[in-house]
Amino acid sequence: MSAEERVYAYSAVLMGSPILLKLFEHDEALAARVFRLIKQYEILLTVNRPQSEVMSINQAAGLHPVKVSPPVFDLIACAHAASLFPESLFNFTIGPLVKRWKIGFRGDSIPPAEEIEALLPLTDPRQVLLDKEACTVFLQQKGMEIDLGAIAKGYIADRVRDYLQREGVTQALINLGGNIQTLSGPPEEAGWGIGLKKPFAAPDALIGVINVRGKSVVTSGIYERYFELNNQRYHHILDPRSGYPLDNELLSVTVISEDSIEGDIATTLLYGMGVEKGLAYLHTRPELEAIFVTKAGKVICSSQRLSSFTLLDSEFQPEIVTDKTV
Ligand code: FAD
Ligand code: MG
Repeated sequence: MSAEERVYAYSAVLMGSPILLKLFEHDEALAARVFRLIKQYEILLTVNRPQSEVMSINQAAGLHPVKVSPPVFDLIACAHAASLFPESLFNFTIGPLVKRWKIGFRGDSIPPAEEIEALLPLTDPRQVLLDKEACTVFLQQKGMEIDLGAIAKGYIADRVRDYLQREGVTQALINLGGNIQTLSGPPEEAGWGIGLKKPFAAPDALIGVINVRGKSVVTSGIYERYFELNNQRYHHILDPRSGYPLDNELLSVTVISEDSIEGDIATTLLYGMGVEKGLAYLHTRPELEAIFVTKAGKVICSSQRLSSFTLLDSEFQPEIVTDKTV
């Protein structure tokens, strides 16, 4: 019997996303505790219900600072820093535009250009005041809204990893709708085999497989949350400069890292940078590894130190970037 055959899989739908937990021992009670933990974070961080700590901040925009719990403050501080990174297209104050486009939600539509124009000034991350001592967050302009969709699943995946470790679990995988974190890997094998999905193909079609042990694998792409109108595709990663979906040569970016929060931030950041700038940036972050999939059918691996990638689909051409080619 192979290691994968001894895996017990538990699933749920939370944060509007399919959640999958894999364990090597049958433990339904543990799976239920993990799902409860995820739910607790969802309740704190969601912007898709009238109440949460993040919604309290948004509802007090332009009025007053709001005290939040330390984990929410720390996550917001992280999102703030990523948004202030020079030339960053990661922007956690993109909320007003996300809410207006509704991509991935019922009622999605193309907003009139003047509405987008009017919302852009409400997406300035420098207008967020953080007070670490008081643990407060203040959005200085009325109408501003925080959206942690590009970072929260990574943060939660790390908390699940920490929880499983405290419970004495040594081998496990958690998949939060594309944000994967792993503890070790199946014994006697190359590690967890994580499929790299083939964009706009059958749900089980893969470009290749990434093998990792004890690492996170996060993918940001334009092929899961989108809508089409007049032969034009509108996906959910927005360009904070224009207010429209980010348009470049990429279909997806996958990041392999120690912590899933780093991977989640980096996928969105790298998506905004594109291949050339992204590879140069990765040069300064040797603890990260990335796989870019381009619309022209190229699969570009920044390195293979943390994972091993096997290409399965001959429609795609692989490229491993070494120090010499950057
Ligand atoms: P990434 O590619 O990492 O980031 C894209 C997401 O970040 C976008 O969906 C948007 O939310 C935001 N974003 C867009 N542009 C930018 C930008 N330039 N910079 C920074 N952020 C940007 N989905 C549902 O359908 N229903 C729900 O009830 C629901 N509840 C959720 C509750 C929580 C706590 C969280 C974390 C997510 C929830 N989601 C829900 C999913 C959410 O709406 C996003 O679609 C999802 O988090 C995107 O994950 P990703 O890894 O694909 O995104
Ligand atoms: Mg992300």
